[in-house]
Amino acid sequence: MLIRHTGEPEDPERRQADRCGQRDTLCLSSQVGCRLGCTFCATGTMGLQGNLLPGEIQEQLIHARNLRQVSNIVFMGMGEPLENYDGVTSAIRGLVDPQRFSVAPSSITVSTVGIVGNMRRFMEDLPKVKLAVSLHAPTQELREQIVPIAKTYSLETLMEVVDEYAARTESDGKRKGMVMVSYVLLAGVNDSDECAHQLCDLVKGRPVIVNLIPYNPFEENVYRYETPSPERVDTFQQILAAVDIRVFERRHHGRDIAAACGQLAKIDKTIPASDIESLSFTLAKDRVSAPVARKAPAATPRESTPGPNTQREVSKAGVAAPLVPRSVVVGLLLTASCLSAAVALRWLGRRR
Ligand code: SF4
Repeated sequence: MLIRHTGEPEDPERRQADRCGQRDTLCLSSQVGCRLGCTFCATGTMGLQGNLLPGEIQEQLIHARNLRQVSNIVFMGMGEPLENYDGVTSAIRGLVDPQRFSVAPSSITVSTVGIVGNMRRFMEDLPKVKLAVSLHAPTQELREQIVPIAKTYSLETLMEVVDEYAARTESDGKRKGMVMVSYVLLAGVNDSDECAHQLCDLVKGRPVIVNLIPYNPFEENVYRYETPSPERVDTFQQILAAVDIRVFERRHHGRDIAAACGQLAKIDKTIPASDIESLSFTLAKDRVSAPVARKAPAATPRESTPGPNTQREVSKAGVAAPLVPRSVVVGLLLTASCLSAAVALRWLGRRR
């Protein structure tokens, strides 16, 4: 999912301004579904359907780059990235390779619910790539309710790894040891003043930035969670800010299309799955062929106004005729290879 940050405050009168500036962030998926079953997350209801291959992860960037100049990459889409360790680390190595995608390691963030063994591995293997932690509760007991994997990886151990990570990145340029901690706010579950104070106790003195995410609902949630009111979110935020904890609220990008944090899932089995190529190809095709629409000779007044339907019709013609036929390109490449071979043989002959 591609997220466009406009840099504009959502509601400067009441809500915090977005201080992040203009940029495009790509939210990558690492798995199809997820086995961890966090109780607020639609992806968790699917179970694990499979791990994405490194190429399938990178492919998401290829399609996004057809649409926009991506400046940041976050692994916060479907799946727990550190459960697909080999696929994700291999994909990242390709992403940061100057000969392939040439993405700056520091502009990639991998978010995890706390697979502590693999967090330590990751810090060794890809030290320049950022890690973020999905915390979601300030106590072990509450965390086990919201993030069931917390029964395996305790909150105490997780915070030890957070400290290790912060210590490693202390002298690391812009990051300076800061750790991003996400906290989904569920009305009446973990959004009380008491929880806010417990969270203060947990993170105070640690170099963290707390990212509050008001719950993004989905119909099939059996827990019937609700989104806290803006006033409750503000109060929670103020309790943290009052003790100098850096905290901000994440804007609910994509909620209108059920693609915000925790909403990614294919729940309706009657709708056939679409391939990512189909989506990007259509969009890129429309964009490239849009100027052709103006040349259409016998357009009615309605057709002459550029609109979604007009673009779609014209684009069919636009893509049908590539500028250079594939056979010509292949022929040229073969000719170039033969010429190179001939020059090399001649050079060798001269040396003898
Ligand atoms: S929040 Fe992340 S780890 Fe938890 S179920 Fe959803 S995708 Fe999996």
